[in-house]
Amino acid sequence: MAYITESGKKLITVIPGDGIGAECIDSALKILQAVNAPIEYEVREAGASVFKKGIESGVPQETIESIRKTRVVLKGPLETPVGYGEKSANVTLRKLFETYANVRPVREFPNVPTPYSGRGIDLVVVRENVEDLYAGIEYMQTPGVAQTLKLISRKGCEKIVRFAFELARAEGRKKVHCATKANIMKFAEGMLKRTFEAIAPEYPDIEANHIIIDNCAHQLVKRPEQFEVIVTTNMNGDIISDLTSALVGGLGFAPSANIGNEVAIFEAVHGSAPKYAGKNVINPTAVILSMVMMLRYLDEFEAAATIENALLYTLEEGKVRTGDVVGYDKGAKTTEYTDAIIANLGKKPSTTQVREYRPIKLPQIPPDPVFVKVSQRRVVGVDIFVETDLYPEPLGQALEQLVAESPFQLKMISSRGTKVYPPTGAITDVVDQYRCRFILRDTAGDATDAQILELIGRVGSRFRWAHIEKLQEFDGAMGYTKAQGED
Ligand code: NAP
Repeated sequence: MAYITESGKKLITVIPGDGIGAECIDSALKILQAVNAPIEYEVREAGASVFKKGIESGVPQETIESIRKTRVVLKGPLETPVGYGEKSANVTLRKLFETYANVRPVREFPNVPTPYSGRGIDLVVVRENVEDLYAGIEYMQTPGVAQTLKLISRKGCEKIVRFAFELARAEGRKKVHCATKANIMKFAEGMLKRTFEAIAPEYPDIEANHIIIDNCAHQLVKRPEQFEVIVTTNMNGDIISDLTSALVGGLGFAPSANIGNEVAIFEAVHGSAPKYAGKNVINPTAVILSMVMMLRYLDEFEAAATIENALLYTLEEGKVRTGDVVGYDKGAKTTEYTDAIIANLGKKPSTTQVREYRPIKLPQIPPDPVFVKVSQRRVVGVDIFVETDLYPEPLGQALEQLVAESPFQLKMISSRGTKVYPPTGAITDVVDQYRCRFILRDTAGDATDAQILELIGRVGSRFRWAHIEKLQEFDGAMGYTKAQGED
């Protein structure tokens, strides 16, 4: 998939980025040159300097063109400007090229002391990278009630789950955990769990376990060495992958890859750490190891292993370590550390082993937008979200009167997911936003749009409404959840 130059080398796009980015990328490229890997690169801009030129996305056209051509990016951190109207250039890049898998490996490093030293932590978090709450679809339903949509697709789950199993195979790992909050979000988080359980039998050589995300966080702190690969949704992955970075020595040691079917972007987990910019003191390991991941992605396994071995040897030797490990008053300069790694190319550490990697087989998912096909569907009712200063009882009575002559009846009203009408005896606080659930009186019926619009008209004649949801059944299965306390 790589772009091959006239001299037969693989071409990549390099984005130095902001703050400490240039120093980290310089270090990585110097090592790349020393190992003589058949890689050429073209340097392109993104981030703060681009925002300053007034390009709102933070990613100029020349950079997009370069990535379209090379398909492989090594990038430094990009600052997310604090200010109205500017978007995160990182998120723009990930979304523009649908890099759906965020891969964050962590392993114990020799001579990088942590409370977990000696436990042999060696795991990878595979985070879904484009769906979930990070789609950023948000609304104020009333002046005091906010809503964020969490959209998770079966197609997205299938891609990330297959990717996680393929990664386990490529890295010779034997176990994959799927971490979700499916016990609470049965549809959205449950989609990942169900997909995982459906696909796992296709990988009989790999042990598959589901774990609830909060217990996963607990287990990661208690016994992190039990995990090999953890596949999870975007928000869960964001949180636990920062947790796992901290287990092995912090952000200076945390590499990552954003992988899609067309484009892959390799970068450290850390940001631009502006206070260290230009001081030649930061730890470039995370970017160097991101480059190592990139070399494996480009099938340059030997160069990757040579660099990883030299880095581990340098740490094991313990003579040259950066300030984040030994204190900034005693730490080596970034350039000294880089030179030490270069001097150690060809050497192997004695206490730590580099894994045997094989090329990863990226999952091929049909592009068809209709991923799950059903033969029957039915609309059994509608939820109308209204804004009112009434308490539940008078609201319920008013709505019952309004729909007395309609094909729908009021089934219940809930406040932030808990049923408050008809009264349940529960002591529930309420706000000025209610979900009012109407269902067809004819329990075998299929509500038409005309019936629903007529219902909205009735409710809207008395109450301000902000949002509606159809209550649907697909092949007889309920496509909506019940409120807490609803029967
Ligand atoms: P950060 O840049 O990651 O820095 C946080 C702290 O982590 C630093 O102060 C330092 O800790 C430590 N650190 C990070 N990288 C290090 C390295 N290579 N060597 C040694 N120590 C390192 O996080 P931030 O300050 O929250 O974010 C700064 C900017 O970066 C923001 O504009 C943010 O949006 C952006 N950002 C970009 C990306 C990306 O491009 N992927 C990711 C995250 C953040 P001590 O202070 O303890 O020494």
